[in-house]
Amino acid sequence: MITLADEALVLRRIPYGETSLVVHFFTRNHGLMAAMAKGARGIKSAHRAPLAAMHTLTVQLRLRDMTGMATLHSADILYGRHGLTASPLCLAAAQVATEAVYRGVASGDGNQPLFHALSQTLDGLNRGQSPAETLAKGLAQMLTAMGYGFDMQRCHRCETGTSSLAYSWQSGQMVCSACCRGERFLLLSESACRAFAGSQGEVSLSGEETSLLYRLAVATLEKHGKAKLVSDTFFRQYLGW
Ligand SMILES: [Zn+2]
Repeated sequence: MITLADEALVLRRIPYGETSLVVHFFTRNHGLMAAMAKGARGIKSAHRAPLAAMHTLTVQLRLRDMTGMATLHSADILYGRHGLTASPLCLAAAQVATEAVYRGVASGDGNQPLFHALSQTLDGLNRGQSPAETLAKGLAQMLTAMGYGFDMQRCHRCETGTSSLAYSWQSGQMVCSACCRGERFLLLSESACRAFAGSQGEVSLSGEETSLLYRLAVATLEKHGKAKLVSDTFFRQYLGW
């Protein structure tokens, strides 16, 4: 038996039997890990509260080898995000963020930049700061951490290297000014380009740029990931997008 201790975020919970749960964790050092949490849905279970929301946990997992399913030995809240439950929109955004990681990464891939990007996004949503913009920028950072980031240095059509790109609605890509002549295009601000490139820090997006970044991020995830994002439909309905 191996015992692993790690920081973890809950990506998915699947009820199992009468009171148990199969929990998919995203851990800081070991990536995606599935664990059986025996009796975790029971009223008296110590695991019930930590697993119920999107807190950063410290978990101890026991497993026979690194390929099989682990058993959850302990879960404690390291950093709580109780604010998320106060806003249905922030919670819906947090569900998109966690599902994006669940769909986008393979089992057992440790990815600390991605863990950091997801944690930061959940923190922003927990503070209740403009959920759509926080999520859109967070998804761009997560895509970069997964290696699917947007190329903001090169025209997608003629492949010329340039930093002055516009979004072409026709091709759904970033193209140079020569390539989008006569088409419907959206010029992005410098801050939007930085956000699209997944850079951290204070960048401010317009409503249109936020919605575009979000839709591009989801489309990119669905192209590379395992399946369609279920939580996306719900989130868009909420925002009326
Ligand atoms: Zn071009």
